[in-house]
Amino acid sequence: MRVGVYPGSFDPMTLGHLDIAERGASLVDKLIIGVLENSSKKPMFTVEERVRMLREGTKHLPNVEVCPFSGLLVEFLKEHNATIVVRGLRAVTDFEYELQLAQANRNLYPAMETVFLTTNAQYSFISSTVVKDILHHGGSVEHFVPQKVIEIINQIRRNQHGSSDGN
Ligand code: ADP
Repeated sequence: MRVGVYPGSFDPMTLGHLDIAERGASLVDKLIIGVLENSSKKPMFTVEERVRMLREGTKHLPNVEVCPFSGLLVEFLKEHNATIVVRGLRAVTDFEYELQLAQANRNLYPAMETVFLTTNAQYSFISSTVVKDILHHGGSVEHFVPQKVIEIINQIRRNQHGSSDGN
């Protein structure tokens, strides 16, 4: 069985991530979306919230599983008997970092391959950073993230407001 891992921070999940997950899932028997827990960036959403977004957002994909992970990606691959890493490329700016990452990983685990999927042009400008910025300023992200993710974000915000009101 060919198992692939699509790793990332997914803070939050976007339509660009969904596109790569759908296309990645069609290339392997099982695709595990690995949600990075110990990102050096301080995330806007907890790992539990990000896992929930991805589980809801990929419910229509029967061969996709979502798992949190921390530590080295190659250890996560070995743990799940995976030898393929799926990553998305938006623009040349992504390339240098991705190349470094892929080469370092292969050095640590020669049995693995990284597969790069180029973004669909319609999603190339979408990033979690842009989405966070829009959310921060109270704008609408409906053209950037899946509908189910919007519902989760709204729910999280309602709970946060509720608790800060002392309710
Ligand atoms: P990182 O893993 O660097 O924290 P993300 O969690 O934002 O980054 O993204 C995970 C993966 O999804 C990366 O391979 C990234 O290039 C890819 N990706 C992010 N946004 C898009 C998009 N709009 N189109 C295609 N791929 C994307």
